[in-house]
Amino acid sequence: MLVYNDFRCSACDTIIEDKLVDNEVTVVDCQYCGSPATKVRSVPNFRLPGNDAAGFPSAHAKWAKKRDQKMAQEKKASYYEP
Ligand SMILES: [Zn+2]
Repeated sequence: MLVYNDFRCSACDTIIEDKLVDNEVTVVDCQYCGSPATKVRSVPNFRLPGNDAAGFPSAHAKWAKKRDQKMAQEKKASYYEP
C-alpha cells in the first residue's frame, strides 16, 4: 500500500515531506546528498536542528510548524480520552 511519509536525512538533516512510498519502506535516498533518509515517526525523539539548518531553513520551518500542529492535535485528543 502506498502512503505519504516524511523522511529525515541522517547526513544533512533535510526533511523530505509527503513522499509517496510503500507502507513498509522506512529508508529512502536523500534527494540532495543521496544519504539514507529515515522515516519520521509521529512522535519524533530527535532534536530539532536549530543552528545547522542554514541549508534549508524554509523546509525546516514548514516541517516544524506541521509537527507542532500534529502534536497539538494529539494533545487535544488525549485530553478528551484520558
Ligand atoms: Zn541529505
